[in-house]
Amino acid sequence: MKHIDEEKINRLIQLPQCSRSEFDAIIEKSKNLQRLTTEESAKLLAVKDKELIDIIYRTARYVKDTIYGKRVVLFVPLYINNICVNECQYCSFCKNNKVTIRKKLTIDEIKEQTRILLERGHKRILMLSSESANEDDDIEYFVKAIEAIYSVSVGKNKVKRINVNLAPLSVENFKKLKKAGIGTYQIFQETYHEETYRKLHGTGPKSDPDNRLDAIDRAFKAGIDDIGIGPLYGLYDYKFETLAMFEHIAYLEKEFGLGPHVVSVPRLEPAYGSEISHSKKYAFTDEEFKQMVAVIRLSVPYTGIIISTRETAEMRNELLNLGVSQISAESRVSPGGYERPGDHNAVKDVQFKLNDQRSIEEVIADLVAYGYMPSFCAACYRRERTGKVFMSIAKPGNIKSKCDINALVTFKEYLEDFAAPEVKKHGYKLIEEKLAQMTETDKNIVLKFFEDIDKGIRDEYV
Ligand code: SAM
Repeated sequence: MKHIDEEKINRLIQLPQCSRSEFDAIIEKSKNLQRLTTEESAKLLAVKDKELIDIIYRTARYVKDTIYGKRVVLFVPLYINNICVNECQYCSFCKNNKVTIRKKLTIDEIKEQTRILLERGHKRILMLSSESANEDDDIEYFVKAIEAIYSVSVGKNKVKRINVNLAPLSVENFKKLKKAGIGTYQIFQETYHEETYRKLHGTGPKSDPDNRLDAIDRAFKAGIDDIGIGPLYGLYDYKFETLAMFEHIAYLEKEFGLGPHVVSVPRLEPAYGSEISHSKKYAFTDEEFKQMVAVIRLSVPYTGIIISTRETAEMRNELLNLGVSQISAESRVSPGGYERPGDHNAVKDVQFKLNDQRSIEEVIADLVAYGYMPSFCAACYRRERTGKVFMSIAKPGNIKSKCDINALVTFKEYLEDFAAPEVKKHGYKLIEEKLAQMTETDKNIVLKFFEDIDKGIRDEYV
């Protein structure tokens, strides 16, 4: 596969645990918020000593808190189509999967799903779709869907940012996506191991691993500079995937002067009609998973880390402490799933099994209980603080203040407009605590916005 030197990665995953002095030097580099090399990251992944793993964890927490503060950004996925031309053997949307109930939402149905999400307090959407045989038809549908989602309002609540997870497009079609107003373009390479990739993806447009890898290059060339990447863990060795992702990032940094804005760490979950999705061949332990997430935090300190509802509530809460900065809440992974109450895993239109089906209110209550500030902020993208501009603000340590202010303002809006009394009570207590830790200047900005919220004004940000 392009840009991925498998020999190098195979050598790095065999590395034994490094010496204590080498370990300390890498940790020191991380404390200075410096990006690690793939080799240094491999050395951290190789650590087995419990005491050293605890140091990795503590450092990951320090790096996250120093760059982003205690805020955690919330989003919700919106699946619009599961009729797919591809043959991904681990996915229930696979073309050959006979058990999946198929649906492509109409524009009115997309608006209805959006309305349901807005009523529940969501403001940030990740739009996902399967792929058809005709890219031009797809892009036309995606652009209409994005327009539809942005057009809906419920009271004063509107969608502030639509990120997308979609198949690779041409530069020309990526430009249309950008013009439609997307935030992040996200695409998972699934596996960076070429032989495994080719084995799992049959025929169809997704069968070419280099075309998928090139999608990011084309998106950058089209002017989309907020990018999300990640492997699908469980298809091949997790250390190989992580180190290959770091190599992919290193290539992007060299070629475009910019890496991804976010990385995701999805793990393979059982999917209806897919035997491979039940395989434990490349499963790894929760302890290894946590160490891996912490190492990602240290390796790419300025990149957000996303954790989805594939993981359990307990695991998600633990990972907040290890550097995760964005989480989804009350996700439904089927087109039209938000109209359906009850166990989402029960109906055969879902893409895979979800392990966290808490409501947004329960997720928020947990975040508050652990001292994290829920945030619905979309300010960076709306103020054009994306790509290199974002990095130029984040690297000198200046993004945290903006994150803190916008998190508090969007959280108060949520508390006023959507929260039940108990959540509201605890939420305001957390707000008071955070206000007490802010500089006078930032606190005054927040208090001015708070006055406006009390007057009924919404959606102010810095
Ligand atoms: N057309 C989009 C594309 O080409 O990327 C489809 C994206 S799909 C809706 C989103 C992601 O779900 C996939 O990229 C894959 O990583 C993940 N996925 C598929 N099957 C899965 C499973 N069984 N467990 C967990 N995640 C899965």
